[in-house]
Amino acid sequence: MKTSFVPCCYSPTLKCSRFEGKVWKRAFSSVLIYKKNLRAYLRKVKLCISSLPLVASLESDVQSNFVRSREFDYVIIGGGAAGCVVASRLSEDKRSTVLLLEAGKEDDNFYIHVPMGFPYLIGSDLDWKYHSTYDEKLLDRRVIWPRGKVLGGSHAISVMLYLRGSANDYREWERSGATGWGPEDVLPYFLKAENNLRGASAYHGKGGPLRVSDLPSPNEMSHAFVVASQTLDIPPNKDFNDWSRSQEGVGFFQVTQADGKRVSPSTAYLDPVRGRRNLSVETQKHVEKILFARETGSAPRAMGVSYINSSGKRERAMVRKEVILSAGAYGTPQLLMLSGVGPPDVLVSLGIPPVMPLDGVGKNLQDHCAAMFSCKSKNPSKDKKRRDLYYTEETGKDWKTILTWVLAGKGPLTSTMCEAGAFLKTNSTFNDPDLQLRFIPFFSEADPYFSLSDYSSKGMFLRNRSSRPSGFSIQSVAIRPKSRGSLKIQSRDPAVIPTIESGWFSSQEDLETLLRGILISQKLAHASPLSSYFGEQCFPSTGLSKKDDIIRYILSTCHTANAVVGTCRMGTDKGAVVNPNLQVMGVERLRVVDASIMPCIPGGQTGAPTVMIAEKAADMIRGKVSAKTSFEQNVCKS
Ligand SMILES: Cc1cc2nc3c(=O)[nH]c(=O)nc-3n(C[C@H](O)[C@H](O)[C@H](O)COP(=O)(O)OP(=O)(O)OC[C@H]3O[C@@H](n4cnc5c(N)ncnc54)[C@H](O)[C@@H]3O)c2cc1C
Repeated sequence: MKTSFVPCCYSPTLKCSRFEGKVWKRAFSSVLIYKKNLRAYLRKVKLCISSLPLVASLESDVQSNFVRSREFDYVIIGGGAAGCVVASRLSEDKRSTVLLLEAGKEDDNFYIHVPMGFPYLIGSDLDWKYHSTYDEKLLDRRVIWPRGKVLGGSHAISVMLYLRGSANDYREWERSGATGWGPEDVLPYFLKAENNLRGASAYHGKGGPLRVSDLPSPNEMSHAFVVASQTLDIPPNKDFNDWSRSQEGVGFFQVTQADGKRVSPSTAYLDPVRGRRNLSVETQKHVEKILFARETGSAPRAMGVSYINSSGKRERAMVRKEVILSAGAYGTPQLLMLSGVGPPDVLVSLGIPPVMPLDGVGKNLQDHCAAMFSCKSKNPSKDKKRRDLYYTEETGKDWKTILTWVLAGKGPLTSTMCEAGAFLKTNSTFNDPDLQLRFIPFFSEADPYFSLSDYSSKGMFLRNRSSRPSGFSIQSVAIRPKSRGSLKIQSRDPAVIPTIESGWFSSQEDLETLLRGILISQKLAHASPLSSYFGEQCFPSTGLSKKDDIIRYILSTCHTANAVVGTCRMGTDKGAVVNPNLQVMGVERLRVVDASIMPCIPGGQTGAPTVMIAEKAADMIRGKVSAKTSFEQNVCKS
C-alpha cells in the first residue's frame, strides 16, 4: 500500500511522538506527572510551543520550491567509505533502484590516486575542514579535522592503512549492546570485502573488491625502525589483523593500494558498477534534510530527502523502501539534527520542529589523538639529493621518482608516509595495546595541522614547505581512548559546520599513553640501526626533559590521527541512536550506515571497520542472513 506523503510536524494536525493527542491537554497532564521535576516539564512545554509557529513555514518548505522530484527504492546520503559500499551492494539487485547523493565532487583529482599525494588534499576544496571549539585543556587551541568531501569520502584522502583493531574491540561492541556485532559476526564481512594480495587465510579474504597489499617500496629507514624496535624487546608482528594472536608487536602496515595506486571504496566498489541502469551516482548534491511523514498513531517515517544541487536549486528524492544515512561521523548527526532527530534542547534552541527526541545524537564522539616525535638527519643539507631515502616535498618533483611510479607503480610516491608501526601496552594490566607508534620517513612538524590554523588562512598542509629538512618522525597514537567529546549543530543552515568539542584528555589515561609514547620514541631513535639516521631531536626539543615539560608539549601540539567515530552510537539503551540493525530509534525507514554508529573506536584504523559495517548493513537491508564464523576457538582470548 502506498502511503501519501504527509510531512510530520509540518501540519497542525500531525503530531510528533512526544506530542501525540491534543498538545495542550498533554502538556497539562504533564504538569501532574512531572510536578516533582519542574525542569523537565518546562523543557517539554518549551519544545511544544516552539514547534507550533514553525509548522506553516516548514510545510511550505517541503511542499514547494523543488525544481525536481524523483522516486527510488533507496536513497543513500553520502558517497564516502560506507555509502559507496552500500550503493554497490544494493544495486546488485536489478529490481531495486538506488540513488547515491554526494555533496563533494567526483574523485578525479590526481593527488587522490598518488598515495603520497594525500597531504595536498588536506585543507583543499575536497576537505570539509572541520575544527573543534577552542579548548582550555589543549592550551586554547582548536583541533583541526580533515574529512573528505568527495566521492570515496574520507577514505579518498586517507593514509590507506588497513587495520581492523582486535577481536576484543568487537567483543566490547557486543558487551555495550551491539548484539550480533561480535568478532565472529564481523569477520565474514571483513573477509568478504577484502582482496588481500597475500592470499586467503582464516583472517584474510581473497576476491573481494577492496585490494589490500604490502607497500611496494618501503623506505630503508622504516626497515631500520622495525629492527630497532626488536632490540628494545618489541616482538615482530607480520600481520596486525591476525586475530589468532595478540595485536602487540612491530611490523609493516598493509595498505589499500593496487599497483602503487590508492584503492578507495569509490574505486573498488563503485567504479566497476557505474554502468548499472538501476544505480544513479550524483555528486555536488548537498542533502539538507530528511523528509518525514507520519500517519496518526504510528512512528515518523522517512519519505525522502531534500538537497541542493550544484546550481543552488532545491530538489527532492523520495524513497519506496529506505533512506540510508552515510554522511560520516560529523555529517550524519548534523543531518539528523537538521531533520528534527536529536537532543530536544538543541532542536528547541534553533527552532527546529522535533520529529524524534534522541539525546544520544552527537554524543560519544571518539577520535585517535596523536603526538609527534620528530628529528633531523645527520646532514640535512647534504641529504637533498637522496630522495629515495629522505622524503621531502622535493621528492615528488623528481622525474625519476615520477616515472618509477607511472611505469612500475613503485618508488617513494607509493609511500603512505606511515609505513611501519608498533602496537604496545604501556601498562601490563591492559588487555590490548593502548599505544600505536607510526614510523614516518619524513621530518614532520610537531603539529602537522598547524599550517591550517583555523583554516581561515587558507593554508594547506604541505604548501610552501620545500625547505623541510630530511629526517624521520614517530607518531604516538592513543588507539583505545577513554575520552569522549560531542557535537551539536549551531545553525539551521546545513552549510554551517557543527560546534564540536573534542573532549580530548577528559580522561588523564590518554595523556599518559601519549607521554609514554614520546619516551619510547626517544629510545627508539637511539636504538641501532635507526640511530644511524638520527641527527638531532627537534620535537619535543631536547630541552624538554622533565615529565611536565613533555606533557605541556603534548597538550600544545597534539593532533588528530583521523579516526572520528561514535556520534550515532549503536546499542539498545536510552542513549543509543540506532539499534543493532542500524535503524534509527523510534523512526521508520531510516538507517545509519557509517563510522558514526561504532559504540567504541577499534584499536586500529577506522576505514576497514567502516567498510565491514557497510557490507553487513547491505545484507541486513536486503534481508540476507549472515553466516557467522565459528572461529571462536582460534581467536586470541587475551
Ligand atoms: C586524513 C585522513 C586519513 C585517514 N587515514 C586512514 C587510514 O590510514 N586508514 C583507515 O582505515 N582510515 C583512515 N581514515 C579514516 C577513514 O577514512 C574513515 O574512518 C572512513 O572514511 C569513514 O567512513 P564514513 O563513510 O563514515 O565517512 P566518510 O568516508 O567521511 O564519508 C562521508 C561522506 O558523506 C558526504 N556527506 C557529508 N554530508 C553530506 C550531505 N549533507 N550531503 C551529501 N553528502 C554528504 C561526505 O562528503 C563524504 O563523502 C582517515 C581519514 C582521514 C580524514
